[in-house]
This record gives sequence, structure tokens and C-alpha cells, in this order.
Amino acid sequence: MKHTQIRLYGGIEAGGTKFICAVGTGPDEIRAETRFPTTTPAESIGLVINFFKEQGELAAIGIGSFGPLDPNPASPDFGYITTTPKPGWAHTDFIGALRTAFDLPIGFDTDVNAAALGEHRWGAAQGLDTFIYLTIGTGIGGGAMVAGNLLHGVMHPEMGHIRLPHDWEQDPFEGICPYHKDCLEGLASGPALEARWGARAETLPMDHPAWDLEATYLAYALVNYITTLAPQRIILGGGVMEQKQLFPLVRAKAKEYLNSYLQVPEILAKVDEYIVPPALGGQAGVLGAIALARQAASHNLTSPQSDL
Ligand code: ADP
Ligand code: ZN
Repeated sequence: MKHTQIRLYGGIEAGGTKFICAVGTGPDEIRAETRFPTTTPAESIGLVINFFKEQGELAAIGIGSFGPLDPNPASPDFGYITTTPKPGWAHTDFIGALRTAFDLPIGFDTDVNAAALGEHRWGAAQGLDTFIYLTIGTGIGGGAMVAGNLLHGVMHPEMGHIRLPHDWEQDPFEGICPYHKDCLEGLASGPALEARWGARAETLPMDHPAWDLEATYLAYALVNYITTLAPQRIILGGGVMEQKQLFPLVRAKAKEYLNSYLQVPEILAKVDEYIVPPALGGQAGVLGAIALARQAASHNLTSPQSDL
């Protein structure tokens, strides 16, 4: 379809440590981008509003946020960050704050569901309808698309907080999750690596034993997700996955732990294409937020103008 005017979308990747905002249509056209540290809701959302106000007319806004949050449009708390332990942010009406400044469709989901949508539209999950996007960073989180829809139920997935086999002899580290101690996030997030080994994860050498143990936990987690959701692909992003040596280790261990139970060629014969890094790299989150904005705009359109 021919467009007389390019419709621009605003995307917000709201992280626990930083915000990234961008205006554009997708990876080939980002008109403006800004990033700033996450402070208070009033200040951070105020900076977002100022940035978008400078960018001219937008068609919609998408928010991919840290959580926990309420992604259910039928709920009274829709658009809120809810019970987050992040100081000052519990019960923040994120969408409400933007609505006071913009009369636009607004998409709202977790940072990882947004990244999953971005990878689906432009990245490593194109053509799939059931897959997982995981980030291994300050926390561990997972987004999922199932049969073409981003997965929500009574809440959104919290894949970082699953429990795993923990061999206390091999790994006496008790874990750092404030709620569960040795859940996946408590054992394998970036801060968990730092606490266990006494050095920031990015400073540990490639042949450090940290990486084999990290791959063990990630592979256990992946086996749980594979057997639960039957994803067609698993995308592993986040700062810790910058350690590219993790990929072959995780692939081999996931196959080992499945232990020949599943005869699925996509997993066994093509594991290099099954467990992959994000094709959009560090842009997956903010581009995913733009994809959420496009989705919100198309849900609002009654004319056949939608370019989704
Ligand atoms: P966030 O989770 O805040 O969005 P990141 O995904 O970059 O940000 O995660 C930050 C965590 O990842 C930190 O704990 C940091 O130590 C770790 N990290 C960042 N870069 C690397 C790297 N190259 N190798 C290993 N760990 C890294
Ligand atoms: Zn936990």
C-alpha cells in the first residue's frame, strides 16, 4: 500500500537502570534516540514526554517495561508497574502518565515481551509463531509468543524465577534472589555471577569455570521451557550473553539434559539455529517497543491504513 505520509512511532524501553526511547518506524528508520538513567517515575517519565514532544506527530507509543506490571487491558491496574521492589516505582500508573500528555494509542507490555515482538517482526524469530526471548542481565526475564500472541495469563511470565537442580557440592553459592535465593535469577543473573565469583561478570576470563556453571543453569532452564511451551526457537539476549562462548556450551548441555527423550530435528540436528542470540542485538528492546506501538495503532485503526 502506498503511503502519502510516513507514520512515526515512539518506543520506550524502560529498564531498571536505564531508559531508551526512540522515534521511527523500525530498524531501518530511527529518526531520534535518547537514553538516560532510571530515577523517579515523575522525572523519568517526564523526560520521556519531553523527548517525544520534540519529535513532531506520532501515530502511537509503545512501552516495554521492567515489572512486575499489569498488561491486561481489562484490569483496573492496566498500564501500571505493580509490585516492583524498585524504590519509588511500586504502583506507578505508566500509561496514565503518558495519556495526560498524548492522545494516542499506547501499547504496554514487559520489556522481554516487547523484545520478543521486535525479534518476531524484524529479527531472529521472523516467520515463527511460538518462541521465547530471554534476557540474562541484571535480572533474568523471559517473554514468549505462543501461537502468534504475546503470552499473558493471570500475569505475565516470570521465567527468571523458576527453580533448578542445585548441586550444593559443586556450587555452594546460596543465591541472591530476595524472594527465592537460588532460583534461576538468584544463581545465574549478572549480579549473581559477581556475588559468587567476586568480580563483575564482564571481567571474568573466557576460560573461567563460571561459564561452564552458568551454561549448566541456563541449559536446565531451557529444558524446562522447551518441555513446557515447545518453542520453535529460543533467543538469548542480555549483557551476560555477550559471552559468546556460552552459546555452544548451553546448546550442548540442553541436548544432554533432554537425554534423547525428544526426537525433534529442529533441536537435535539444528541446535545452532534453535538457541540463538537476538538478531537486533541491544536494540531488541527499544525496537520491540516500536513494534508494540505499531500493534497498538493497528488495533485502533478502522481504516485500511494499517501498515502492520
Ligand atoms: P540490564 O539488565 O540492566 O538491561 P544488561 O543486560 O547489560 O542490562 O545486564 C547487565 C548485567 O550483565 C550486569 O550484571 C553485568 O555485569 C553483566 N554484563 C554486561 N556485559 C557483560 C559481558 N560482556 N559479559 C558478561 N557479563 C556482562
Ligand atoms: Zn527468584
